[in-house]
Amino acid sequence: MKKNITIIGAGLVGSLLSIYLSKRGHTVRIYERRGDMRKEKMSAGRSINLALSDRGLLALEKVGLAEEIKKISIPMHGRSIHNPDGNIAFQPYGKEGQYINSVSRGTLNMKLMDLAEQHGVQIFFHEKCTTLDWEKDVLEFENTSGVSIPSSKADLVFAADGAFSAARLQHQLRHDKFNYQQYYIDCGYKELTIPATADGNFAMEVNALHIWPRKDYMLIALPNLDKTFTCTLFFPFEGEASFDKLKTETDVKNFFEKTFPDAVPLMPDYINEFFTNPTSSLVTVKCFPWIREDKFALIGDAAHAIVPFFGQGMNCGFEDCRVLDELIEKNGDDWTSILQQYQTLRKPDGDAIADLAINNFTEMRDRTADPIFLLQKKIEARLHEKYPEKWIPAYSQVTFSPHIRYSEALKRGHMQEAIMQDVMKLENIGETWDNPDLHEQIIQQVQH
Ligand SMILES: Cc1cc2nc3c(=O)[nH]c(=O)nc-3n(C[C@H](O)[C@H](O)[C@H](O)COP(=O)(O)OP(=O)(O)OC[C@H]3O[C@@H](n4cnc5c(N)ncnc54)[C@H](O)[C@@H]3O)c2cc1C
Repeated sequence: MKKNITIIGAGLVGSLLSIYLSKRGHTVRIYERRGDMRKEKMSAGRSINLALSDRGLLALEKVGLAEEIKKISIPMHGRSIHNPDGNIAFQPYGKEGQYINSVSRGTLNMKLMDLAEQHGVQIFFHEKCTTLDWEKDVLEFENTSGVSIPSSKADLVFAADGAFSAARLQHQLRHDKFNYQQYYIDCGYKELTIPATADGNFAMEVNALHIWPRKDYMLIALPNLDKTFTCTLFFPFEGEASFDKLKTETDVKNFFEKTFPDAVPLMPDYINEFFTNPTSSLVTVKCFPWIREDKFALIGDAAHAIVPFFGQGMNCGFEDCRVLDELIEKNGDDWTSILQQYQTLRKPDGDAIADLAINNFTEMRDRTADPIFLLQKKIEARLHEKYPEKWIPAYSQVTFSPHIRYSEALKRGHMQEAIMQDVMKLENIGETWDNPDLHEQIIQQVQH
């Protein structure tokens, strides 16, 4: 039976979800708080560009968008590490031919909205969800543009309204046993720009994600199609080196020149941007339940907001949509079963990628410059090459193995890390790391 479905939020996940549902014949309406970014000039929200990897691509492939999005993405084959002494080291992400993709959040969101409308989805803008009560069948929006639209009843509501979801709050208020955990890390972020060079080229290697790891903080940069890079400074709010301490132009100049000497000449406007661009916080949200009978479900960041250090928030939200669609395929019209199974499958995976993302912060800002860590990665890459089924580095499980669940990747990652911790303590590991006997011993310890 075809349903009237309402989605709250026309962000990346709400827009993709609407395509999946309309392709199944349902009548889908999306209500979005902001204006239409295709017509009004506005920020697409959060980061300007994003790393799209295999999980996200698989979900886009199922709606026929993967190839089109790949064409407007820039492949990043590995990390380009900018050391304080000015040396740059390249660390591939995976095997040859494996890469992640830098894509513009705005362009991707607009393409998803276009395709949604082509499938008959109606998107209503300037509609802010204020009240939701599935038991009484109440769903209210506040129109912020003065244009009133006809209200409609929904059989099923999806909340895809992001990390600070208003719908989740309403769900929480009306659920007597709602578990909720919200955790802010002590770092915030600020975006800066590396423009194209005077002759219209990229100022650095284009096919890489650039990182300036500095132990307690880091600067990263992802390429854009217009030959610029969007840089993000992940930086403590308080402490010796922190946003709190950089109060004047001289503070910022001194700090950047000392800490990121090779980036400074590439960022002519960084001081101005530092003071005009917002400083934003980073939150992890875990909650339960995600669903209510056959009437309501949280999806995307509204269900599982995570920190961005694994580049997986959007990828995970897109995977939510793909998994949900597979459950519709399997269960037909039985929405109680569909939503129940969706929650059972996705909740552990949302929790797992949240934990993996926090762990990756330490890895990116601190360990990517550490020679022991680099040797460990080299050994793991060799093991993966020799035993591709038995040893998959944690990063590859998350990024390039969309059929391994995040919860499985977390479990296997812990097991492999424990083995590697012992291996790295071996005397002369610097010389013996490529010994086939050692590789065999390591593989013997892998449990499946
Ligand atoms: C700095 C940073 C970098 C990131 N980098 C990556 C990356 O490289 N790769 C990756 O996969 N992920 C990344 N992410 C995560 C990614 O941005 C999110 O996971 C993704 O945007 C989630 O999509 P969503 O549609 O669930 O939520 P959102 O993108 O937040 O969309 C929610 C939508 O709901 C609307 N809305 C909100 N409240 C209401 C309301 N009351 N009523 C109606 N509409 C409402 C909003 O206007 C918005 O359009 C990054 C995040 C940050 C902060």
